[in-house]
Amino acid sequence: MYDVIVVGARCAGSPLAMLLARKGHRVLVVDRATFPSDTISTHYIQQSGLSLLKSWGLLDRLVATGVPPIRRLNFSYAGIELGGFADPVDGITEVYAPRRTVLDKILVDAAREAGAEVIEDFTVEELVFDEHGRATGIRGRSGDDSGLTEFRGSFVVGADGRNSKVAELVNADFYDVVPAACFIYYSYFSGVEWGFYHQTDTQHQQIGTWPTNDGMVMCAVMQRRDRFREFRTNAEENFHAVYDAIVPELGQRLRDSGKREEQLRPMLYPDNYRRRSSGPGWALVGDAGYHRDPFTGLGITDAMKYGQLLAERLHEGLSGQRPIDEAVAEYVKLRDEDSQGSYAMTCSISTLELTPYFDAVFRATSMSEGFKRRFFNMLAGGIHGDEFFAVDQLQKLYDEVDFPVEKRILSPR
Ligand SMILES: Cc1cc2nc3c(=O)[nH]c(=O)nc-3n(C[C@H](O)[C@H](O)[C@H](O)COP(=O)(O)OP(=O)(O)OC[C@H]3O[C@@H](n4cnc5c(N)ncnc54)[C@H](O)[C@@H]3O)c2cc1C
Repeated sequence: MYDVIVVGARCAGSPLAMLLARKGHRVLVVDRATFPSDTISTHYIQQSGLSLLKSWGLLDRLVATGVPPIRRLNFSYAGIELGGFADPVDGITEVYAPRRTVLDKILVDAAREAGAEVIEDFTVEELVFDEHGRATGIRGRSGDDSGLTEFRGSFVVGADGRNSKVAELVNADFYDVVPAACFIYYSYFSGVEWGFYHQTDTQHQQIGTWPTNDGMVMCAVMQRRDRFREFRTNAEENFHAVYDAIVPELGQRLRDSGKREEQLRPMLYPDNYRRRSSGPGWALVGDAGYHRDPFTGLGITDAMKYGQLLAERLHEGLSGQRPIDEAVAEYVKLRDEDSQGSYAMTCSISTLELTPYFDAVFRATSMSEGFKRRFFNMLAGGIHGDEFFAVDQLQKLYDEVDFPVEKRILSPR
């Protein structure tokens, strides 16, 4: 009998299992993958995410993989240029974009080292419920198809990503759903050296590029979903054409000296959503409970951050400080409150067209060194979005850069 069973062992599941095991709880974490394992995801990690890794004693391991540091971020959105970097967050002065094969393996190993039992290559198919409808375990099978195996626990957590089986089995409804705007194609190139670029043009298309492990550069192209069918008819050429159009210099370099080392990976983005994330004996964490467009690069950081929050609340319940379901319900409330602003911003700007509000705010920000720094501090997690977008701050910004009065907008609505 385990205290907690966690389904899914990546950015949400493994830190949760690790933190609970470090508190002395008996934890099982299962995943249908075997690690190291890749997944469809690019992998930019915010300074606040790195700060969590540091506090868990895992940042040094990540740095030791040779993943190159990034010390300047270059954003451009329909002609608005925002280049710079944030102030240090917990002494962290750079960001990293490690391959998921690298990051997720570090997290799984850390869970195991902390004392959690980790079973890889195990797919959960069913949940076990008691006569009151409380989740009390899982049933699943290993890759060798040795039949259904059951594990019992006091609490079950679905950290099993967007297509969460746990969410399906507890009928967790969706809320705050916002239809997805885009699709992505991305791959890894050798032969080009390039920093961090995230550029969106006026034709509703975007490139993202950054260095990662093994001397490779990750290159991605995003367009609106209605162009997916046309794009895929000649994905290779269309991929290059978007680079040529948005950053001609990199487009030329990619064509001349870039060698694509892996296949082009396409994905039609799933909708943005939250799901009811707690119930009797169960909770959802990471993408299972809350997913937003990758535009703002928050998925990994949020999965770790709210994984830590859930670990704290579960510990309160398991150690008898308060009823466990009540503590876990509070985790969901705090997650939704904390992410409300970044969720709204992500859903809005990921349409690849700025609303008049965001256009005004970002345009004015690009004209002020001080507010640019605040913008990067917000992205890094050094200040909360609510502070950056506070009305008095925006008034100060507009005054400082002498922004045309008729274009000043202080609220998204
Ligand atoms: C194209 C793309 C680009 C992205 N880029 C970034 C980025 O640059 N930065 C960023 O921060 N975020 C990014 N994200 C978001 C990020 O990938 C996710 O937010 C993050 O992976 C969520 O972690 P998770 O642990 O919740 O889920 P996942 O990483 O999806 O892990 C879920 C795990 O559950 C396992 N699982 C599922 N079902 C079962 C089952 N039935 N039984 C057993 N195991 C199961 C899976 O094998 C998997 O290992 C991107 C996402 C996409 C799609």
